[in-house]
Amino acid sequence: PSHHAWDGNGAAVAPTPMPKRLDGKVAIVTGGARGIGEAIVRLFVKHGARVVIADIDDAAGEALASALGPQVAFVHCDVSVEEDVKRAVDWAVSRNGGRLDVYCNNAGVLGRQTRAAKSILSFDAGEFDRVLRVNAMGPALGMKHAALAMAPRRAGSIVSVASVAGVLGGLGPHAYTASKHAVVGLTKNAACELGAHGIRVNCVSPFGVATPMLINAWRQGHDDAGDGDGDLDIDITVPSDEEVEKMEEVVRGLATLKGPTLRPRDIAEAVLFLASDESRYISGHNLVVDGGVTTSRNLIG
Ligand code: NAD
Repeated sequence: PSHHAWDGNGAAVAPTPMPKRLDGKVAIVTGGARGIGEAIVRLFVKHGARVVIADIDDAAGEALASALGPQVAFVHCDVSVEEDVKRAVDWAVSRNGGRLDVYCNNAGVLGRQTRAAKSILSFDAGEFDRVLRVNAMGPALGMKHAALAMAPRRAGSIVSVASVAGVLGGLGPHAYTASKHAVVGLTKNAACELGAHGIRVNCVSPFGVATPMLINAWRQGHDDAGDGDGDLDIDITVPSDEEVEKMEEVVRGLATLKGPTLRPRDIAEAVLFLASDESRYISGHNLVVDGGVTTSRNLIG
């Protein structure tokens, strides 16, 4: 058997070294200050992109940007506020010679985790609205302003971070599940429209990753004595190594694929693929990174 790679015409193709897959490209990553977003920022930078972190956590965002060097900048941006999104895009484009190649809608919130907050019988409408605004309106606004900036160059890739809760029910609170289904739907719709402008739109749907989001939720769920008073809104910016390990163990226990632990870097690799030209004919796709959970007969629940 041959060890050569072959193209479709049967001619041998020389192996090529792994290039920097976003060399010279300009990217915005929302919610890039920590968690999965931070892993996306780090991987994009490694692959030669200039990256703008757009987040509401100014301290963490600025610290990460300065740690990563001149290729990275931070801009304050609440993705649920249109003026913020427009300002972030305009700022990124103006400091990078008019170009925007990649826009990653990663920012998201899970919503309160108390039993009362999670039930359809007692959820709070204001809280539902807040989750939808960040998780669904945020990506829609991102698509709008990113596409306006990308259209003149007739190229660009928009990648949103949805969730396995955007594919199946029973994997998250109602507002969260509704919002993530919205992201998958928006991705398909926007891909239909923006293809005419040369812009691709895709999303990535992770299974559980031990980030501050999941660790906070776990804490709230376990500190809730069942009284549903919802007074536990603890936010851990930097969880301890012990908390991360404990959370990873919980997720491994629920996983279909035994062995590897799903890490932020695994999600970032999927986002990188959809952001780069290697996926140049893929649009409207939801790339599920779940080790098979959503296809398993023995679904968790
Ligand atoms: P995280 O809470 O650790 O980080 C989220 C980041 O988004 C933070 O830096 C936060 O400041 C920022 N953010 C929150 N609201 C914002 C807003 N309105 N505007 C701008 N920035 C905002 O969460 P994570 O686990 O890294 O999640 C990242 C994405 O991945 C989210 O969309 C989440 O729904 C999705 N996701 C996470 C998991 C998981 O298990 N961790 C699973 C599936 C999908």
